[in-house]
Amino acid sequence: MAYKITEDCISCGACQSECKNDAISEGDSSYVIDPEKCTECVGWFESPRCAEVCPVGAPQADADNTETKAQLLAKFKKLHPGQAPADGTF
Ligand code: SF4
Ligand code: SF4
Repeated sequence: MAYKITEDCISCGACQSECKNDAISEGDSSYVIDPEKCTECVGWFESPRCAEVCPVGAPQADADNTETKAQLLAKFKKLHPGQAPADGTF
């Protein structure tokens, strides 16, 4: 499932440059994740980078955007044509 950023976000910006899918942007009161671009880091990393770097634990799995690993990998391939997914990430 895609991740979302909760209201705990303090808008530090640390997560934005960590997202290889360019899914994170600055919103009005917090940073936001585009669910169309978030693959839970499938294809790049073994675990969600935004959640790892966030100092307040704001990025959380979004139960309203549930996807299988296969769907997340398909999203990665659509976002990055010709790019091979990293081993151990899907
Ligand atoms: S989980 Fe990964 S792909 Fe999704 S927003 Fe966070 S860093 Fe980007
Ligand atoms: S790292 Fe955490 S607190 Fe900083 S902008 Fe991202 S979600 Fe918000």
